[in-house]
Amino acid sequence: MKYFGAHVSASGGVANAPANAAAIGATAFALFTKNQRQWSAAPFTAAQIDAFRRACAGHGYAPSQILPHDSYLINLGHPEAEGLAKSREAFVDEMARCEALGLDRLNFHPGSHLNRIPADESLARIAESINIALDRTRGVTAVIENTAGQGSNLGFSFYHLAAIIDRVEDKSRVGVCLDTCHAFAAGYDLRTAEACDATFAEFDSVVGFCYLRGMHLNDAMKGVGSRVDRHAPLGDGQIGWECFRYIARDARFDDMPLILETPDESRWAAEIAALKEMCGQ
Ligand SMILES: [Zn+2]
Ligand SMILES: [Zn+2]
Repeated sequence: MKYFGAHVSASGGVANAPANAAAIGATAFALFTKNQRQWSAAPFTAAQIDAFRRACAGHGYAPSQILPHDSYLINLGHPEAEGLAKSREAFVDEMARCEALGLDRLNFHPGSHLNRIPADESLARIAESINIALDRTRGVTAVIENTAGQGSNLGFSFYHLAAIIDRVEDKSRVGVCLDTCHAFAAGYDLRTAEACDATFAEFDSVVGFCYLRGMHLNDAMKGVGSRVDRHAPLGDGQIGWECFRYIARDARFDDMPLILETPDESRWAAEIAALKEMCGQ
């Protein structure tokens, strides 16, 4: 089964997100479980948790169709002790919030070395951060997102993802979310079926499809290898529809949230409908 959705608003409370997803015909969704520009938030009340679970059940969303995203402030590979500690604390809290809601995965950007420590040292810190979070929570998989490689952000190379996973102790609770715009910006071509074959074969050999827990379906404003993280509506960017048709028809992307983070929200319903049609759902 293919599950298509978008990163929807949880404004007014997480219990509102499932209805926002259902309104655009989504069979999956992403959300922030707290304000993504703040470090902390009040813990969920029993009533909030209950309302979220009832809304998900009411609209037919299982945890495997939901891909929460953590705060952009968190840097699990931070070069300095204070920033690293603050990020780790916030990440454990994000994982705990997912656990409280009954969700089974949390999507996050790996981190940045900020040009102050070697990349490999930062990658080791990211893995250690994941180990700490997995130790302190239960049932939630840490899902690393590949990045466009802007600035000193790590995770743009499949080898970075593999280097992190290699150092994670509990491999049953670490996964990957591939963002098509980020992969393309990082230099992985996705413009044709042949290019998709090659890119996903490389992903499989370096990381492994067994770790794939979700996708972000975004077209890219800038060219292949631009290292610029600018999303475009599907078909409006440099990648084009062929890639999204490929993913819609490929069973390796079944049974996981396939999430739009495209810039024009008014087009999400049409993008989801087009993707559903391509896979015959
Ligand atoms: Zn993304
Ligand atoms: Zn992005």
